[in-house]
Amino acid sequence: MKGTIFIISSPSGAGKSSLIRALFEEHNQDGSLYLSISHTTRPMRPGERDGADYHFVSESDFKKLIERNAFYEWAHVFDKYYGTSRELVQEAVNSGRDVFLDIDWQGAQQIRKIEPDVKSIFILPPSLEELKRRLVSRAQDSDEVISKRMAKAQREISHYREYDYVIVNDVFSESLDALWGIVNASRHSICNQKLSQKYILDGLLSGYSGN
Ligand code: 5GP
Repeated sequence: MKGTIFIISSPSGAGKSSLIRALFEEHNQDGSLYLSISHTTRPMRPGERDGADYHFVSESDFKKLIERNAFYEWAHVFDKYYGTSRELVQEAVNSGRDVFLDIDWQGAQQIRKIEPDVKSIFILPPSLEELKRRLVSRAQDSDEVISKRMAKAQREISHYREYDYVIVNDVFSESLDALWGIVNASRHSICNQKLSQKYILDGLLSGYSGN
């Protein structure tokens, strides 16, 4: 049985990474969730690790990967390249794991075209003031980068209508419940249950043979 691909997008600072991290901490004891690690040409931020947060590569290496058709999708975000590895995502989906892609709206549009069954979730901040406060308090970016991110936030937010689900991340624990609720509901969809519960369903339909 194949897993489901979940796309999670948001303007940076809306809390998407923290939500994904918490989802994996709380709900991945059985290893059924898989987080795709993207390739990027942007510089590493303090506290980030190559291979864990991103695969950090040079622009020329990224372009070689594009030529080799190694990306499921790729996009230019904040003047840097970001891309999702095709092979690793397909391997995880084929092994039945639910795959999470932390990508922007441009990547989401590309994936929807090739994978119509994908589920997409947009995380919104409760206000632009709160978004700015979160970007400043995480102390990862220069003032110039923060201004750029704020300027782009509204353009990114305008794409929320393209998504299947929207979570306003005000109270973290409630947002996490909502995120898990979406994943869990998808596992119980008729399409997935027909395959994952096949033996039970066949048994229930086979007729009662006792007294
Ligand atoms: P950051 O630099 O803050 O880690 O990410 C900036 C933006 O790039 C975020 O909106 C993030 O979702 C997006 N992003 C990260 N990886 C990918 C990717 O592989 N493809 C696309 N299209 N966007 C990505």
